[in-house]
Amino acid sequence: MTVRLRFVRTTERLHRQDPYLLEFEAAVVARRQHDGRPALILDRTAFYAESGGQPWDTGALGEARVLAVIEAGADVLHVLDREVAAERVHGRVDPYRRRDHMQQHHGQHLLSKAFVDVAQATTVAFHLGGEDTTVDLDRLVGEEQARSAERLANDVVWQARPVRVSSLTAAQARAAGFDPPEGVVADIRIVEAEGFDRQPCGGTHPRTTAEVGVVVITALERYKGGSRVHFVCGGRALAAFARRQQVLDQLVSTLSAPLDELAATAGKLKEDLAASERRAKALLERALEGDARRLLADAQGPGPAPTVSSPAVVVARFDGWPAEELRLLATQLVALAPAVALLGSRSDKAHLVFAQSEGLPNDVPALLKAAVEHLGGRGGGRGNLAQGGGDRVERLDEALARARASLAAR
Ligand SMILES: [Zn+2]
Repeated sequence: MTVRLRFVRTTERLHRQDPYLLEFEAAVVARRQHDGRPALILDRTAFYAESGGQPWDTGALGEARVLAVIEAGADVLHVLDREVAAERVHGRVDPYRRRDHMQQHHGQHLLSKAFVDVAQATTVAFHLGGEDTTVDLDRLVGEEQARSAERLANDVVWQARPVRVSSLTAAQARAAGFDPPEGVVADIRIVEAEGFDRQPCGGTHPRTTAEVGVVVITALERYKGGSRVHFVCGGRALAAFARRQQVLDQLVSTLSAPLDELAATAGKLKEDLAASERRAKALLERALEGDARRLLADAQGPGPAPTVSSPAVVVARFDGWPAEELRLLATQLVALAPAVALLGSRSDKAHLVFAQSEGLPNDVPALLKAAVEHLGGRGGGRGNLAQGGGDRVERLDEALARARASLAAR
């Protein structure tokens, strides 16, 4: 008898009859290892194993934590954090996680049916994650259709319709319009929200639709030619509302604007910022042009104005200038008069920008390459403008002096 049982045993899934059963006694049938952890097979279990888009339950078997519950053929594998020596165990399913999964999963049934009714959109995938829950629809739905489906699903929730579980043979299931996979001979479990939705499912579902609480769509995106709908139900909806409320409260306080005016205030701030940035850029260009004229005058001294055959050479080193501003200054310099600009700045690293006016004979990229190599860095450019930098900040003056010494003879 014992031997025969060993071959025909199947773990009895208590949650299929009663999803509210959270404590149970069971006998240990086999001990296994799973990814280096001990795992038990029991004669009966109230733990739901991951399947059909619904994650596994967690909880405890005796003193051991149940880390994962996995379908293993006819059996259910309970993966534990420690060995259990006893032959009989007391099981406790985590009630919060179970209720959360029931709310999300049943909410999904209702929302999926609502999308069929509202937009003839069929659910092709369901994912119940730790935070995010999604259904993928076979066709693109719009914002308004999504809101209609959401309203319909919530109507059904608030009507507190009874939820029933029944079982059909594969033939009965086909006759009833379901499409069990080829080769399925076992009974098909049907979950029905009275008068609204009926579908094959092995998941844990509540007694009435009311337990879903509320269904809230949080995002809608295009996905594989259809739509992906993100949603939260029940307790997750409450948590999502609290998170959003916290963010809004912070924004109301930071922007000193009431909730209803937040969007307009943020929009205005963004416009103001863009205008300030444009003004700052114009001022910077004016300031740099002044710097460029002063540097040229210093380089020229009392002598004649620079020409293409006798250009001004400006060598200057700044502290803390970003490379972008060095480049703007160099561009201004070589545009104002025939000139070579060898500019450097030191901050966390050393920056170099070299430039020359149109028609001058230096190989600017080669000059820059030699200089940045001296700084232990890299850089490049084309034609009359090149820039780069290196970490050896203490060599910056030397790099500039060397570049100046290698300029083409006038
Ligand atoms: Zn289901």
